[in-house]
Amino acid sequence: MKDYIVRATAANAQIRAFAMTSRALVEEARRVHELSPVITAALGRLLTAGAMMGSMLKGEKDVLTMQIHCDGPVRGLAVTADAKANVKGTALAPQVMLPPNGLGKLDVGGAVGSGILSVIKDMGLKEPYVGQTQLQTGEIAEDLTYYFATSEQVPSAVGLGVLMEKDNTVRQAGGFILQLMPFAEDETINALEEKLRTMDSVTNILDAGSTPEQLLELLLGDLGLEINDTIPAQYHCDCCRERVERAIISIGKKDIQEMLDDGKPVEVRCQFCDKIYNFEVEDLEKMLTEARS
Ligand SMILES: [Zn+2]
Repeated sequence: MKDYIVRATAANAQIRAFAMTSRALVEEARRVHELSPVITAALGRLLTAGAMMGSMLKGEKDVLTMQIHCDGPVRGLAVTADAKANVKGTALAPQVMLPPNGLGKLDVGGAVGSGILSVIKDMGLKEPYVGQTQLQTGEIAEDLTYYFATSEQVPSAVGLGVLMEKDNTVRQAGGFILQLMPFAEDETINALEEKLRTMDSVTNILDAGSTPEQLLELLLGDLGLEINDTIPAQYHCDCCRERVERAIISIGKKDIQEMLDDGKPVEVRCQFCDKIYNFEVEDLEKMLTEARS
């Protein structure tokens, strides 16, 4: 099954809803970065949320970036997504191993710890939108719920899950984001809260064979669910040699001169897809002339 996002509304548009299956793209992230199981779950949850939040962007060229700076052993996670649900991500410490948490699950909260979540939306304006909140549990879904409530003032419910196979590949991944519009009535809010309280975990629902449409049906079927569209989602890195060159030029003359002083070609690895770009001494000399001192 390919990854996709379902976009929907319910209760006469008092609720807007997103649900997603993301197994293939989380598996791709795991394969590219050789992620450990707990980091696959941590980055996988952030990638899943990132793809759904990317699909909320209005402009074709808009870009959403989420960064977590944290004191847990993973130290940092970053995800970038666009409006077409192309998503990519990276983890500072991709191979962290931890024992299961008290519930016998992958200890994402333990790997992340406490820290800051930053959400950056580049919508082609002079300054990007930046929202920052404290991590609440490090489990990602709760942290995003808190982010939406405090930074965007949109009451939301976020569910994210990644389930691993015994061979440490990804068995299931997916999630949902439900958001209450400002005119939502108490009756709708209460009915939704009751549903959320009694529902099974995202991974259990997906592992029972449910599609994202069926996941939304479980949550919002009694509230007049209307599915609007589905969009494919994928792990995609848009790096290219020119972009890497620009990144090297941007670090400045002094650092490029230091590379030149070594007299050896330089290898630069893309942090999102692990593709390697090689630069010869002559390339560096050319970049030196373009760099600022
Ligand atoms: Zn790349």
